[in-house]
Amino acid sequence: MSLPHLISRISKCTKLFILSFLMLINFSITKAQGGKTQILDEAFKSAKERYFSFSFESRDQLNQLSKIISIDKVEKDKVYAYASRADFDNFFNTHLDYELLDHPNTFFHAEMFDSKLKKTYAWDQYLMYEDYVDMMYQFANDYPAICQVFSIGQTVEGRELLVAKISDNIDVSEAEPQFFYSGQIHGDELVTSILMLRLIDYLTTNYGTDEQVNKLVNSIEIWINPLANPDGLYAGGNTTVNYATRFNANSIDLNRNFPDPEDGEHPDGKSWQTETQHFMNLAEAQHFVMSANTHAGAEVVNYPWDTWTVRHADDNWWQFVSHEYADTAQFYSPIGYMDGFNDGITNGIDWYPINGGRQDYMNYFHHCREFTLEQSTEKHISESQLPDYWDYNRQALLNYLEQVTYGFNGRITDLETGDPIQAKIEIDGHDFDESFVLSNQDGYYYRPIKAGLYTLNFSADEYESVSKTNQQIADYDSKTINVQLQKLNTGIEENTISKIQITNPVHNHTLHIISSLNIKQIKIYSILGQLIYSSQYNTKELQIDIQNFRPGIYITKLEFSNGEHIQQRFINP
Ligand SMILES: [Zn+2]
Repeated sequence: MSLPHLISRISKCTKLFILSFLMLINFSITKAQGGKTQILDEAFKSAKERYFSFSFESRDQLNQLSKIISIDKVEKDKVYAYASRADFDNFFNTHLDYELLDHPNTFFHAEMFDSKLKKTYAWDQYLMYEDYVDMMYQFANDYPAICQVFSIGQTVEGRELLVAKISDNIDVSEAEPQFFYSGQIHGDELVTSILMLRLIDYLTTNYGTDEQVNKLVNSIEIWINPLANPDGLYAGGNTTVNYATRFNANSIDLNRNFPDPEDGEHPDGKSWQTETQHFMNLAEAQHFVMSANTHAGAEVVNYPWDTWTVRHADDNWWQFVSHEYADTAQFYSPIGYMDGFNDGITNGIDWYPINGGRQDYMNYFHHCREFTLEQSTEKHISESQLPDYWDYNRQALLNYLEQVTYGFNGRITDLETGDPIQAKIEIDGHDFDESFVLSNQDGYYYRPIKAGLYTLNFSADEYESVSKTNQQIADYDSKTINVQLQKLNTGIEENTISKIQITNPVHNHTLHIISSLNIKQIKIYSILGQLIYSSQYNTKELQIDIQNFRPGIYITKLEFSNGEHIQQRFINP
């Protein structure tokens, strides 16, 4: 780096500091390390994360850099990124020329809605934390027949990660695909949580009167988590969003903290944050068919993959649903909204590489279909503009949700007993990179796919595989293919294998378990492995009062009369 650059970059430093720095780098390499410390001290003296830009030389370099800093966006050859002090320390060693920028929250001042003034909320103000929590639980109070609200766990600072589950017959696990929307994993991308709250409001208030809403609520189990990083949003305290940060309370980017198909379990070199673990547990415990993670900082639909350049097996479907989103948003907005890139859409890594993002994690490890939605160029839009962004995105959000009802679906059962089978459904000559889907614990599967003629292969351990050839499907169409699989002769008697049913999420603070074999012992652990409950039984049906358990995800381990063990997760709302 050149000295003039260096000096302009550290313009806030005192002359004395610059002088001493020049002396240091002139006279000793060891002392230049001290210079680095001083630059870091200066850059991070009043901020836990910094925003900066630099020019990159090659895509390879960008890929390496994306493992040590959090890239926000790339415009031409200019990269905008965030770093904690530890990240920046690593970046510093690359000797790349950079420019420190004002954090996007620097000049932002939002007027907060104050429920204590007894005004009615009109979606044109930002919410304090307590009001956000109250609003979420109020949805469930107002619409108990179609909405449940619960916490999937707490953040580093103890705030709740709340989810609204919306569906008809809310108490029953029906033959419906599960869909997951989640917002604001980056705490300073302000519009996203408000749009998700409005979506919950729209679905609950319009159920019974709006045709599309009826269809969505009746045929999908919709899960919405408006705020995935509350510690980031409320970094300045629970009563303001003015000092929101991208990172969580440990200065870690949660959307770089997931296991990555290419870069392993810890692509960012950091342990899984408690928030990351809660979302991983949720993905483990549920069976999401489609999902989206919403962001701000650009206006574009970003579809898989982010980590490698090989296209997704369903690349044509991804382009189709991404264009549908962008086209719909363009239709409901002024010229210029979501029309950059390829008419509003981009392949992830074509834009810039992300390692450890939730999108690739959900797609690769959970056979889900998740894309990344960038909903506003400005991360900090003024509160009065919030209703506009809802108007731009409302119909597009509904249409993407509706896509989960299309494609192949059906139920896979045992030919002799009729019991559901957790099987693998693979499209012949089409699926690769884990793009196949699995049937859920009730045997139901859902396979969104672009119009075409396909052969479906159904397989499961200890069963004879089945193929269904020449299956034609159109866009905006669904086709049910139920399959019965015949057991291979393995010598295992059906009645020696235990089967259990757990009501999940738990109702009325009572864990209800029905088993095909006598349960001898049950142990319940927190997700961090603490034993919370243990008892001996000799029964096929159990009801355990868990009134005193904190909201969150738990692991139950059961031992049966035949010595067999089963482990299952459940959510205590
Ligand atoms: Zn983001």
